[in-house]
Amino acid sequence: MSKNVNGRKLATSVMAGLFALSLPFAGIAPAVADANFPSVEGNTNTSSILSYADVVSEMLKLEKNSRFNVDVFTLAEAGMAVNTSEQGRDLYVATVGTGSKHVWLQGRIHGNEPYGAEALLQVLKDVGTNGSHDYKMLRDEFTLHFIPNYNPDGSEANIRHTILWDQIANKPLMGDNGRERLVDLNRDWTPTGFVAKESLAFYEYWTTVKPDYGIDIHHQGLKKQWGTGDDVTLSLGISLAPNGPTLPSIKDGLYNDLTRQMNVHVYDSLKKYGFVNTDRYQVGNGMEIDIKGGVVSAMMLGLNYQGMNPSEHSNPVVFFETSGNTSDGSLGQKARGKSIKQNALAVKELLTGLASGAVDQVDPDRWEEIPHQPVTGYNTDYAGNIPK
Ligand SMILES: [Zn+2]
Repeated sequence: MSKNVNGRKLATSVMAGLFALSLPFAGIAPAVADANFPSVEGNTNTSSILSYADVVSEMLKLEKNSRFNVDVFTLAEAGMAVNTSEQGRDLYVATVGTGSKHVWLQGRIHGNEPYGAEALLQVLKDVGTNGSHDYKMLRDEFTLHFIPNYNPDGSEANIRHTILWDQIANKPLMGDNGRERLVDLNRDWTPTGFVAKESLAFYEYWTTVKPDYGIDIHHQGLKKQWGTGDDVTLSLGISLAPNGPTLPSIKDGLYNDLTRQMNVHVYDSLKKYGFVNTDRYQVGNGMEIDIKGGVVSAMMLGLNYQGMNPSEHSNPVVFFETSGNTSDGSLGQKARGKSIKQNALAVKELLTGLASGAVDQVDPDRWEEIPHQPVTGYNTDYAGNIPK
């Protein structure tokens, strides 16, 4: 990951954001299968990607116009002690639904992985406005907590990390090596972490919500399916590897089963959409991810940082990785609609399956049916690579 923070600036036009959200979303399978994805076209157009201002503007618009009580607020308004990004940007959440089960929906924790924001805004709009039975079920069953942009500073700079900030001099903090100090927010929920303000702000909010489930949206590079060479459009991930070193010991294996059931349900549900080709997320060479410092891993582990989670609440979480990123030549404009739509569909299908009970009916061992490279080991943030 480049440490150059002077990357391409993202578009700040609010209009770009408004047009971007006018996506067709009929929920009808396309007539022709077209899983080739993304169309690279040799260039990457970041001008249509939502800026921080675009995301906030769209959230406030949905709060104003939605039929079913979308509530938008900052973490300052929610009463969190630490409540802004490193550079002082407000951190926004939107809720919708009146159900007793809470779901955490998180996008763009990596600032250069944009479409989690667009996808979650699309789902927020649908749940907030659609009167059909499916969406009523979601509102009745759940209170949904949408975080379309977890990392506004990184998003504005189009970088993965956040930059630690000297609050008094209002400039980046410099490390001993003379470089800006960058923090990967998705490795910062650890007993020795919470270096960045974003981490503590959202962690405190998580301890107040105590979600029942979580979904986290990322991007990966272009990827071919193992064995077939077909383009993969979406990879389904669990940040503590199923049947790996960590997950089976949590809650007597409850999350080891539930996370697999959640992702198998998504896999099954997306088969009817011809433009989507899913597989299992892997870090490469058959290595499975098993990181404890990832936000969603810490959620599953029930991290009790500085006594803020005394009940040691935990919840299962899965993540989605859209193929294509904002580096040159890796995010063709033609793929934009597909990228966003497949994530929105995946989120909606998962929520529907959780609400209806369909997820509970899934055989977790069918996780093995989702295309993947034979597992060779585990890539960890606590013990290096562990062979299988
Ligand atoms: Zn990511």
